[in-house]
Amino acid sequence: MSRKKTNIEKEIRALKKRLAKKQSRKRKVRIVARSVISKSKTVIFDPCAICGVREATTRDHVPPKAIFPQPRPTMITVPACSECNNGASDFDDLFKVYLSMQATGKSEIATRLFKERTVRTLQRNKSLLAKIKAESKSLLVENTEGESEEKLGVLWDSEAHDHVVERTIRGLYYHHSKKVLANDAELKVQWLKSIPEEIESILELLTEQVIGDDQVRYKYYIAPEDPRHSVWLFDFYGAHYTSGYTEPTDS
Ligand SMILES: [Zn+2]
Repeated sequence: MSRKKTNIEKEIRALKKRLAKKQSRKRKVRIVARSVISKSKTVIFDPCAICGVREATTRDHVPPKAIFPQPRPTMITVPACSECNNGASDFDDLFKVYLSMQATGKSEIATRLFKERTVRTLQRNKSLLAKIKAESKSLLVENTEGESEEKLGVLWDSEAHDHVVERTIRGLYYHHSKKVLANDAELKVQWLKSIPEEIESILELLTEQVIGDDQVRYKYYIAPEDPRHSVWLFDFYGAHYTSGYTEPTDS
């Protein structure tokens, strides 16, 4: 690679950094970046960590920041295109609502998420409140003393759930491997009631990643011989467990 080209690449990278920091100056910087690219006759850009196709012009939080009450812990961000970043906020909001209803009472932070954020969302969004009321039912659950206790069971919005978990996995995949998930790999989200026994022994070998105090814990494994294979396990607020895996499309 010629020295001239390397310098241009450096310049583009520096411009993109500024772009991510200063949203208000987005357009201007982008035009400058384009002119640098056209001079070099090579189109170089950072791909979006989520779709892997479009140019990353912003940074997206994974997991979404909506599920953390203030003050937020140190968050992971990845490069994202504006379509992936802006198109996700409704799903993030829904995910927060269902997660916090499941987690409230489990910890002080979980209860704050519900009281400070979900209650406000439901006051604003009356149709969502009506939907949740219609779909929830009271269940008789045995408590630790062996007595029957009435609890409210709430049905998750599975579209929002899977959308958020998929985006989180794609983002964390990029964060840990520094690569976008290959486009000949597919991602599947799986619901878990608890961690299956047969994978518990493997899990012990993997390092636990923690965001905040105990808001999100996760473990992952990316196969070094074929990074299209990966496994992800999440524990949200000690209340909701979910998993996902990636594999080559043809397998
Ligand atoms: Zn994207």
